[in-house]
Amino acid sequence: MNSVKQKRHQNLKYTTRRRAERLLKDWANFSFERFSRTHPEIEIKPPATFFTAKDKFDEFQRLLRTAWRESDPYKFKMLCFRFMTLYRGGWELGPVELAVFHFIDVRDRALRCKNPDCRAPYFFRTKKGQEYCCPKCAIPAQRAAKLRWYEKQKEENK
Ligand SMILES: [Zn+2]
Repeated sequence: MNSVKQKRHQNLKYTTRRRAERLLKDWANFSFERFSRTHPEIEIKPPATFFTAKDKFDEFQRLLRTAWRESDPYKFKMLCFRFMTLYRGGWELGPVELAVFHFIDVRDRALRCKNPDCRAPYFFRTKKGQEYCCPKCAIPAQRAAKLRWYEKQKEENK
Protein backbone atom coordinates (compact mmCIF):
# COMPACT_ATOMS: atom_id res chain seq x y z
CA MET A 1 0.00 0.00 0.00
CA ASN A 2 1.36 3.44 -0.78
CA SER A 3 1.45 5.99 2.02
CA VAL A 4 -1.59 8.02 0.88
CA LYS A 5 -3.71 4.88 0.63
CA GLN A 6 -2.35 3.66 3.92
CA LYS A 7 -3.21 6.94 5.60
CA ARG A 8 -6.75 6.85 4.24
CA HIS A 9 -7.05 3.29 5.40
CA GLN A 10 -5.95 4.28 8.90
CA ASN A 11 -8.42 7.15 8.93
CA LEU A 12 -11.23 4.78 7.99
CA LYS A 13 -10.38 2.64 10.98
CA TYR A 14 -11.42 5.49 13.24
CA THR A 15 -14.65 6.33 11.52
CA THR A 16 -16.24 3.52 13.47
CA ARG A 17 -17.72 4.58 16.78
CA ARG A 18 -15.79 2.12 18.86
CA ARG A 19 -12.42 3.18 17.52
CA ALA A 20 -13.16 6.86 18.02
CA GLU A 21 -14.22 6.27 21.60
CA ARG A 22 -11.15 4.19 22.31
CA LEU A 23 -8.91 6.92 20.97
CA LEU A 24 -10.62 9.57 23.13
CA LYS A 25 -10.63 7.36 26.23
CA ASP A 26 -6.98 6.42 25.86
CA TRP A 27 -5.97 10.03 25.28
CA ALA A 28 -7.84 11.14 28.42
CA ASN A 29 -6.53 8.31 30.62
CA PHE A 30 -3.11 7.19 29.40
CA SER A 31 0.34 8.70 29.79
CA PHE A 32 2.07 9.94 26.65
CA GLU A 33 4.33 6.86 26.60
CA ARG A 34 1.45 4.40 26.88
CA PHE A 35 -0.67 6.27 24.35
CA SER A 36 2.18 6.29 21.81
CA ARG A 37 2.63 2.54 22.24
CA THR A 38 -1.11 1.84 21.91
CA HIS A 39 -1.68 4.22 18.98
CA PRO A 40 1.53 4.31 16.94
CA GLU A 41 -0.52 5.49 13.93
CA ILE A 42 -1.36 8.79 15.64
CA GLU A 43 1.38 11.27 14.95
CA ILE A 44 1.81 13.93 17.59
CA LYS A 45 4.28 16.25 15.98
CA PRO A 46 5.48 19.08 18.17
CA PRO A 47 4.55 22.35 16.44
CA ALA A 48 6.45 25.56 17.13
CA THR A 49 4.31 26.42 20.16
CA PHE A 50 5.16 23.20 22.01
CA PHE A 51 8.62 21.99 22.97
CA THR A 52 8.07 18.27 22.57
CA ALA A 53 5.42 15.83 21.39
CA LYS A 54 4.81 14.96 25.05
CA ASP A 55 4.06 18.62 25.85
CA LYS A 56 1.58 18.66 23.02
CA PHE A 57 0.01 15.39 24.12
CA ASP A 58 -0.32 16.63 27.74
CA GLU A 59 -1.83 19.94 26.66
CA PHE A 60 -4.47 18.17 24.57
CA GLN A 61 -5.10 15.71 27.37
CA ARG A 62 -5.88 18.61 29.72
CA LEU A 63 -8.23 20.07 27.12
CA LEU A 64 -9.95 16.73 26.57
CA ARG A 65 -10.40 16.15 30.32
CA THR A 66 -11.81 19.65 30.77
CA ALA A 67 -14.33 18.95 28.00
CA TRP A 68 -15.17 15.59 29.59
CA ARG A 69 -15.97 17.26 32.91
CA GLU A 70 -17.84 20.22 31.40
CA SER A 71 -21.56 20.10 32.14
CA ASP A 72 -22.58 23.07 29.98
CA PRO A 73 -23.28 21.80 26.42
CA TYR A 74 -22.25 25.07 24.76
CA LYS A 75 -18.93 25.27 26.62
CA PHE A 76 -18.38 21.59 25.88
CA LYS A 77 -18.74 22.19 22.14
CA MET A 78 -16.42 25.19 22.29
CA LEU A 79 -13.77 23.06 23.99
CA CYS A 80 -14.14 20.41 21.27
CA PHE A 81 -13.76 22.99 18.53
CA ARG A 82 -10.76 24.45 20.32
CA PHE A 83 -9.19 21.01 20.43
CA MET A 84 -9.78 20.51 16.71
CA THR A 85 -8.57 23.94 15.68
CA LEU A 86 -5.40 23.67 17.74
CA TYR A 87 -4.75 20.11 16.68
CA ARG A 88 -5.34 20.38 12.96
CA GLY A 89 -2.24 20.46 10.86
CA GLY A 90 -3.76 20.41 7.38
CA TRP A 91 -6.96 20.41 5.38
CA GLU A 92 -7.71 16.77 5.63
CA LEU A 93 -9.71 15.44 8.55
CA GLY A 94 -7.62 12.82 10.27
CA PRO A 95 -8.58 10.21 12.87
CA VAL A 96 -8.21 12.65 15.75
CA GLU A 97 -10.56 15.23 14.24
CA LEU A 98 -13.09 12.53 13.37
CA ALA A 99 -12.90 11.22 16.92
CA VAL A 100 -13.56 14.70 18.33
CA PHE A 101 -16.54 15.12 15.99
CA HIS A 102 -17.85 11.85 17.34
CA PHE A 103 -17.21 13.11 20.90
CA ILE A 104 -19.71 15.93 20.31
CA ASP A 105 -22.36 13.35 19.33
CA VAL A 106 -21.83 11.10 22.31
CA ARG A 107 -21.29 13.72 25.00
CA ASP A 108 -24.10 12.30 27.16
CA ARG A 109 -22.29 9.00 27.42
CA ALA A 110 -18.90 10.52 28.32
CA LEU A 111 -18.59 10.05 32.08
CA ARG A 112 -16.05 9.76 34.83
CA CYS A 113 -15.95 6.55 36.85
CA LYS A 114 -17.42 6.96 40.34
CA ASN A 115 -14.75 4.73 41.88
CA PRO A 116 -12.20 7.13 43.42
CA ASP A 117 -9.43 4.54 42.99
CA CYS A 118 -10.09 4.04 39.26
CA ARG A 119 -6.88 4.20 37.22
CA ALA A 120 -8.63 5.11 33.94
CA PRO A 121 -11.73 7.06 35.03
CA TYR A 122 -12.68 8.62 31.68
CA PHE A 123 -15.10 6.30 29.89
CA PHE A 124 -18.19 6.08 27.68
CA ARG A 125 -21.16 4.43 29.29
CA THR A 126 -22.66 1.57 27.31
CA LYS A 127 -25.71 0.97 29.51
CA LYS A 128 -28.31 3.39 30.81
CA GLY A 129 -27.57 4.47 34.36
CA GLN A 130 -24.03 3.07 34.29
CA GLU A 131 -21.81 4.90 36.79
CA TYR A 132 -18.65 2.82 36.81
CA CYS A 133 -16.27 2.20 33.93
CA CYS A 134 -16.23 -1.57 34.47
CA PRO A 135 -17.77 -4.22 36.77
CA LYS A 136 -14.54 -4.35 38.77
CA CYS A 137 -14.84 -0.67 39.70
CA ALA A 138 -18.46 -1.17 40.84
CA ILE A 139 -17.58 -3.89 43.37
CA PRO A 140 -16.69 -1.61 46.36
CA ALA A 141 -19.99 0.29 45.97
CA GLN A 142 -21.99 -2.93 45.67
CA ARG A 143 -20.27 -4.24 48.79
CA ALA A 144 -21.09 -1.05 50.70
CA ALA A 145 -24.73 -1.25 49.60
CA LYS A 146 -24.92 -4.88 50.73
CA LEU A 147 -23.36 -3.96 54.05
CA ARG A 148 -25.85 -1.10 54.52
CA TRP A 149 -28.71 -3.47 53.74
CA TYR A 150 -27.35 -6.02 56.19
CA GLU A 151 -26.92 -3.41 58.97
CA LYS A 152 -30.49 -2.22 58.36
CA GLN A 153 -31.84 -5.74 58.63
CA LYS A 154 -29.92 -6.20 61.86
CA GLU A 155 -31.37 -2.94 63.24
CA GLU A 156 -34.90 -3.95 62.27
CA ASN A 157 -34.60 -7.42 63.77
CA LYS A 158 -33.43 -6.12 67.15
ZN1 LIG B 1 -13.35 2.75 36.94
